[in-house]
Amino acid sequence: MLTFASGPREGFVFAGINILPMKIICIGRNYAAHIAELNNERPEEPVIFTKPDTALLRHNDPFYYPEFSKDIHHEVELVLRISKEGKYIEEKFAHRYFDAIGLGIDFTARDLQNKAKAKGLPWDLAKGFNGAAPVSEFLPVSDFPDLKNIHFHLKVNGQTRQKGHTALMLFDFAYTLAYVSQFITLKTGDLIFTGTPEGVGPVQVGDQLTGFIEEKQMFDFKVQ
Ligand code: MG
Repeated sequence: MLTFASGPREGFVFAGINILPMKIICIGRNYAAHIAELNNERPEEPVIFTKPDTALLRHNDPFYYPEFSKDIHHEVELVLRISKEGKYIEEKFAHRYFDAIGLGIDFTARDLQNKAKAKGLPWDLAKGFNGAAPVSEFLPVSDFPDLKNIHFHLKVNGQTRQKGHTALMLFDFAYTLAYVSQFITLKTGDLIFTGTPEGVGPVQVGDQLTGFIEEKQMFDFKVQ
């Protein structure tokens, strides 16, 4: 049975207070079927982008549909919580650097992102706006006997829209941590969004988003 990790963590939001600064690092194009649905190229190395800490949304708080976009998409993703500072982490030791797994949405203003992509410009505003990173509570890694066999899914208004399985990731957790930490030092409390499976699509005001890891409900919030 999956039970939530408990207690405050250094560098993480506790009781709504951001104890220390943290960062959110995301991997794009990590599931082949999702790459195909957006007609993207399959990457040779992970595609990495970041969101500011102000994108974080927690405790099932509602997501407010922003005025600057008419095409906000849901991307459900497993989220790793970093538990130890590290750089140049070796892949074989990567498991020592995260202690919990949660579920999040990498909300994306697809219209802004498509514009940026067409011009070869950065995605920051399309991915990093306020509330663009809802994240659930976390489950201890010890609850997962096989990190390559984790299922997760997203329901919108009770209908399953996205289903993911970690066996289908192009770059697994260990590779991603090792890769990112060559460039960016990972710190306790940082979050890593690990990519979305196929089935991304628009959300509308009034939608109810419910996310699951295996059969455990992780989040349940509304778009307003
Ligand atoms: Mg994503």
